[in-house]
Amino acid sequence: MVRRCIVFAHTQATYPTLHTSSQRVLVTGGAGFIGSAVVRRLIRASDSQVLNVDKLTYAGNLSSVAEVETDSRYRFECADIGNRARMTRLFAEFQPDAVMHLAAESHVDRSIDGPAAFVETNIVGTYCLLETARDYWRELPDSDRAGFRFHHVSTDEVYGSLGETGRFSESSSYRPNSPYAASKAASDHLARSWRRTYGLPVIVSNCSNNYGPYQFPEKLVPLMILNAVDGLSLPIYGTGDNVRDWLFVEDHAEALTTIVNSGVPGETYNVGGNSELTNLQVVQRICELLDDMLSESPHRPHASLIEYVDDRPGHDKRYAIDAGKVRRELGWCPRETFDSGLRKTVAWYLTHRDWCKDVQRAVYQRQRLGLGKAAS
Ligand code: NAD
Repeated sequence: MVRRCIVFAHTQATYPTLHTSSQRVLVTGGAGFIGSAVVRRLIRASDSQVLNVDKLTYAGNLSSVAEVETDSRYRFECADIGNRARMTRLFAEFQPDAVMHLAAESHVDRSIDGPAAFVETNIVGTYCLLETARDYWRELPDSDRAGFRFHHVSTDEVYGSLGETGRFSESSSYRPNSPYAASKAASDHLARSWRRTYGLPVIVSNCSNNYGPYQFPEKLVPLMILNAVDGLSLPIYGTGDNVRDWLFVEDHAEALTTIVNSGVPGETYNVGGNSELTNLQVVQRICELLDDMLSESPHRPHASLIEYVDDRPGHDKRYAIDAGKVRRELGWCPRETFDSGLRKTVAWYLTHRDWCKDVQRAVYQRQRLGLGKAAS
């Protein structure tokens, strides 16, 4: 995919730039979907030392970072970001130049069934990590303190739901609607205030829906691919007309390393794929690709497996991101179109059935989540 992206002069000249090419980066949630893409990218495309801190919940899997596990610049620690004593020790030992904070409970449907874990990790855990980082940062020598970065990774869901028109910008109001979005909104506010109140060099990014390899099969794209391959029903919430802006995960990982390298502390950057599609359109494209790639499948046409089910409670209608700022100021734009990224994604799931079986283990059988019937 050829990238056409015009880089404009930008405004961070007065801030020391972090060069992750030769720095020590502590990544939280690096065994998850996006975090593992960031870890793989940092090891593959820079000289960074990487400490991956992950609690290994149902969503975290070390097989997602298997390709870097023997690299001498990579280290893994199984730890909870909410364990302040443990995190303090890890900061003291590793001496990070930057923190990229991706650890989170991330699935909206699970937040409806059990919001407590979302409050615990996304809000309290982020608070603990900010405090650990602040204690560490204020003891750094002046020269290192100015270059330190705390990059808080967040979602466009904090902005709530759009109507037929318009896109979210960095100045859009926060109107989170699900427990997940509310917990991420709270953590964004904490991160922002740690910059404003204590001077911690925090950068926040808010991204649209990601898809790609290594995504846990509870999320729309992998769930639909795996169910279709097995000839199972493809459950579409409501009428399937909810719109999301889709971004390939490797593009997001590149945006994140660009932002932590060149972003301005105190700023927010919206990241998106400029690829608005309804959920139904996404599923139809997956079905078309599978019809093409699995020409012998007894389940063709795969779209015949589509089934409309009860909508998600409080389902946001439309998200769309204006990613003009990160493009103009930092020169990032996606390399993949939705079609090229989706083709790679479907091909990956077809050739990684063992990974899919392994990560689901006993914890998830692709059952319906998010009707709010489970106890929290
Ligand atoms: P994920 O669920 O795939 O991975 C989350 C990781 O965090 C897992 O490896 C899990 O083990 C780890 N984790 C959870 N609680 C932890 C704790 N208390 N301590 C340490 N580790 C813990 O999530 P993802 O989709 O990779 O999302 C990563 C981040 O990006 C999240 O902050 C999410 O809000 C944000 N985000 C996701 C998307 C998306 O489409 N997936 C879009 C925008 C932003």
